[in-house]
Amino acid sequence: MNIHEYQAKELLAKYGAPIAAGHAAFTVEEAVAAAGKLPGPLYVVKAQIHAGGRGKGKFKELGPDAKGGVRLAKTLDEVKAAATDMLGNTLVTIQTGPAGKQVNRLYVTDGADIAKEFYLALLVDRATGRIAMVASTEGGMDIEEVAHSTPEKIHTIAIDPATGFMPHHGRRIAAALSLTGDLAKQAAKVASSLYAAFLGTDASQIEINPLAVTEQGNLLVLDAKVGFDGNALFRHPDLMELRDETEEDPAELEASKYDLAYIKLDGDIGCMVNGAGLAMATMDIIKLNGMFPANFLDVGGGASKEKVTAAFKIILADPAVKGILVNIFGGIMKCDIIAEGIVAAAKEVNLSVPLVVRLEGTNVHMGKDILASSGLPIVSADDLGDAAKKIVAQVKAVS
Ligand code: ADP
Ligand code: MG
Repeated sequence: MNIHEYQAKELLAKYGAPIAAGHAAFTVEEAVAAAGKLPGPLYVVKAQIHAGGRGKGKFKELGPDAKGGVRLAKTLDEVKAAATDMLGNTLVTIQTGPAGKQVNRLYVTDGADIAKEFYLALLVDRATGRIAMVASTEGGMDIEEVAHSTPEKIHTIAIDPATGFMPHHGRRIAAALSLTGDLAKQAAKVASSLYAAFLGTDASQIEINPLAVTEQGNLLVLDAKVGFDGNALFRHPDLMELRDETEEDPAELEASKYDLAYIKLDGDIGCMVNGAGLAMATMDIIKLNGMFPANFLDVGGGASKEKVTAAFKIILADPAVKGILVNIFGGIMKCDIIAEGIVAAAKEVNLSVPLVVRLEGTNVHMGKDILASSGLPIVSADDLGDAAKKIVAQVKAVS
């Protein structure tokens, strides 16, 4: 789960990271009032969407010459103008995709006198099984580009969980950023506070880009992207409240309500499977037969008829789906329950694409009987290979 920049900054401030003052705003009036509470003379109005690249982004409604989603303002009138431009409009950045994202929240914050911009991130390095810090003097810009063209400017430091964050880690971060004296001490402190925040929130990612050095000689977190490990969120009800459902894919959101593991993919064949391994195998065998899956969907071990119906509706609601392959092994879940769910959902949602069902396991004969007597054009398959061949043939026949 990801959160907005202003939420991330409030969270990191609690762990001692240096953050400029700022306030969230949902309306133009709130934005002006927020600026009024800041000392000035420079304000920054920032669009809050779960995507980076806002500064260089463009608003669909405003034309190519308008400024992006991070704007400096010198007066309250300029704050008002910036907020009016952004709220309700669609910001397109390199991270949003061409559809862009509607801006519903703003963050109005103190303007900083920036002398230099660094990059500092924490993530879980799967290769070492450790939290790694990634530091670069080349902040403020596209870090992927830096990694590609000047990889020597990226420094990665893995932290042994047995020792935790040690003073020498702080010194290495400072050295990676070519800092000395007081700024080196500040860098060590920032790194240590980010590590504490990472552990304390079960984060999966903390990215500070830029970490700025101000003209006054202070380090300041100017942008923050924080994501959490979804499997640990149950331990953090306070973080769960920061969720902004308008930022999530509607189908994935609907699926999460039914506790379905659903991920939208680019292909044409919708899949409904129980068990993550079987779901992966089903996707593979669709590819082996020359087509691509439209989604990954694991309905889980003990799904109810309601859950199967919801899953089926989510697949059918995807306009890219040209055919559906249901592949269920009835172990804990019985085949007749699955069949009832499929029939109920197919009747409720006008089934307009070919449907191949492969059932195996407990009550398989009852399940097949329910499908056969449903009056629906459902094709039964006997094994995984047979099922994949049949759905690909059916889809190719109609398109
Ligand atoms: P994004 O990464 O989405 O473009 P950032 O928050 O990184 O958004 O802002 C883009 C750039 O705007 C930063 O690299 C920085 O140069 C400038 N900026 C952001 N916040 C401030 C601020 N509070 N004061 C001055 N400049 C800022
Ligand atoms: Mg940034």
